[in-house]
Amino acid sequence: MANNPQRMPRRKSLLLKILIGFVLGVIFGFIVGPMVSTTPALKDYVMPFIDLVGKIFLRLLTMLIVPLVFASLVAGAASVGDVRKLGRIGVKTLALYLITTAVAIVLGLACGNLFQPGVGMNIPGDLSASAREAKPIADVLLDIFPTNPIASMTNANMLQIILFALFFGVACIMAGERGKKISDFFEDISEVMYKVVHIVMSFAPYGVFALIAVTAAKFGVAILAPFAKVIGAVYIGCIVHAVLIYSLMVMMFSRRSPLWFFKGIREAAITAFVTRSSSGSLPVTLSNVRENFGVSEGVSAFVLPLGATVNMDGTALYQGVCALFVAQAFNIPLTLDMQIGIVATATLASIGTAGVPGAGLIMLTMVLTSVGLPIEGIALVAGIDVILDAARTCLNVVGDTAVCAVVASTEGEELTK
Ligand code: ASP
Repeated sequence: MANNPQRMPRRKSLLLKILIGFVLGVIFGFIVGPMVSTTPALKDYVMPFIDLVGKIFLRLLTMLIVPLVFASLVAGAASVGDVRKLGRIGVKTLALYLITTAVAIVLGLACGNLFQPGVGMNIPGDLSASAREAKPIADVLLDIFPTNPIASMTNANMLQIILFALFFGVACIMAGERGKKISDFFEDISEVMYKVVHIVMSFAPYGVFALIAVTAAKFGVAILAPFAKVIGAVYIGCIVHAVLIYSLMVMMFSRRSPLWFFKGIREAAITAFVTRSSSGSLPVTLSNVRENFGVSEGVSAFVLPLGATVNMDGTALYQGVCALFVAQAFNIPLTLDMQIGIVATATLASIGTAGVPGAGLIMLTMVLTSVGLPIEGIALVAGIDVILDAARTCLNVVGDTAVCAVVASTEGEELTK
């Protein structure tokens, strides 16, 4: 508490620096991009250096995920103290994740119907792509259970880590005095890990600049024109979903204004946009809801890592838009039945999408094949997928934080004003 007054201005100026880094990165990338191929100094030194800075930032964030999630989830589960309460939080979280995801796909389909992004596209003849098979449901379930928790951690298998940490945290309560010592230890580790998050985030303005500059330079403004409609449909869909659905949820259940909500998660949203990774953004997401909303460790350490793995509203919305885009580009009429099929498969596909860059594009093959659309359509979207990935990852992460705030409020937690 004592260092709060000092922390607030520091955090505010950091956020401003991150925003400046973002804007400068976009401007720099757009200006420098067209000159890169003809200027050896830019091509051989400047851009590779900027790329390296971005990659280092991404690695630093990724480095935090496993120790931070495990320690805070053990401490969080132990602090909840009651297995029934943990179960209730789990059911609520999954229900909210599923409902918001289904709404996102419907919105994606609506945007696709409204914008008609694929109508009149000239499809080149040399498209090729291969479909991804959906995993059998039994294997999906089996995959949640670790055989070796240390291996789960080295592979950063989030669902397995979550499951083991929950067992471990609950067992800490059951083990009485000795268990308390262990959960206190993990509480301390998680506090220390949050300090590491702060150290890494002080590097964020440069990391954000580098990541967005490289993307902007690579794509330039010119590539946007032929795909303006599909990009517009995904971006507008994401904004509408965030502004309508999440604002409503936060207003209804947490009794807080949308402004309060969006202000509190700005760092996480920008990090998601530039890293295009829900998992990579997790340290920032966790620290934002804890520090800006006052959500407890018990709720945030469970809801957010789970969300970064299974809750992908942005990905689902994007799959809805892209399915329509491909159907229109190939002149295949999409019946209502097919659109309902898309809602069902895109929900499952988004759950199965890993929180890493580009994963949604791979899962799109599953959605297309399931409703009989040509998977060659993937090649149409692949060229601009980075631009779509930025928006959908941002929505994925913002969706996790909205559910986190709502679950905390419905568990009786008083959120910061
Ligand atoms: N990049 C997204 C994420 O990390 C997943 C996707 O590609 O849709 O949330």
